[in-house]
Amino acid sequence: MARKKFVCGNWKMHKTVAESVALVKELKAALVGVAGEVQVAVAPPFTALKPVADALGHGGPIELAAQDVHFEKQGAFTGEVSAPMLADVCCGHCLVGHSERRQLFGETDESVNKKVKALLAAGILPIVCVGETLAQREAGETLAMVGRQVRGGLAGLSAEQIGRLTVAYEPVWAIGTGKTATTAQAQEVHAAIRGLLRELAGGVADSVRIQYGGSVKPENAAELMSQPDVDGALVGGASLKADDFSKIVKGA
Ligand code: PEP
Repeated sequence: MARKKFVCGNWKMHKTVAESVALVKELKAALVGVAGEVQVAVAPPFTALKPVADALGHGGPIELAAQDVHFEKQGAFTGEVSAPMLADVCCGHCLVGHSERRQLFGETDESVNKKVKALLAAGILPIVCVGETLAQREAGETLAMVGRQVRGGLAGLSAEQIGRLTVAYEPVWAIGTGKTATTAQAQEVHAAIRGLLRELAGGVADSVRIQYGGSVKPENAAELMSQPDVDGALVGGASLKADDFSKIVKGA
């Protein structure tokens, strides 16, 4: 089944409002005629979501994503942002379970699952991040680890709900390190994730995009995304420069 490639830039904790708006303006210009064939989104920090939404315009070729969400709708949760608040600033997508959230901020499969449900209820499409550490890969535990994260993060979802999300496979050892999974390593895990999605959601699995993330650059993006189950990329460092990010999109 033909799946439209989906490339999302994760800006992490980078860019002021002015820098964010300047970057999306550059991106818009660089991607004229390309975005449309490939689905493209950017995930700025919370502070820049609304200004970036305004700069992108409604229904434009580049879509808006958030980097995280709280699973409650509102309440006494100092420092948190809810799914309805993200919808209010026109966020169409949201990362969930990024390895930095898992490693540094105590994210668990259970909280990922609650966040996925909260996002879907607010009409926002989750990008559920999974991936093994180097120690887990070396111990031969990659597929078990990723399988546990997918099952946990998607627990209790209907096939229709699974059909609305994206999975991002991001080996932890490849994030921000300059080390990229080989195409064979990526394809092996992506195919295993697709198999698991088929178990959970039947034929819907064929329409779910599975992005690869981990030191994706203009030089390696096209080859990674040429694999049958690699349906796009989640890009960190290289999404901070319009030139690099647009080259990656063009490689999709
Ligand atoms: C990420 O943060 O999701 C990521 C893949 O980062 P980088 O591209 O910098 O490895």
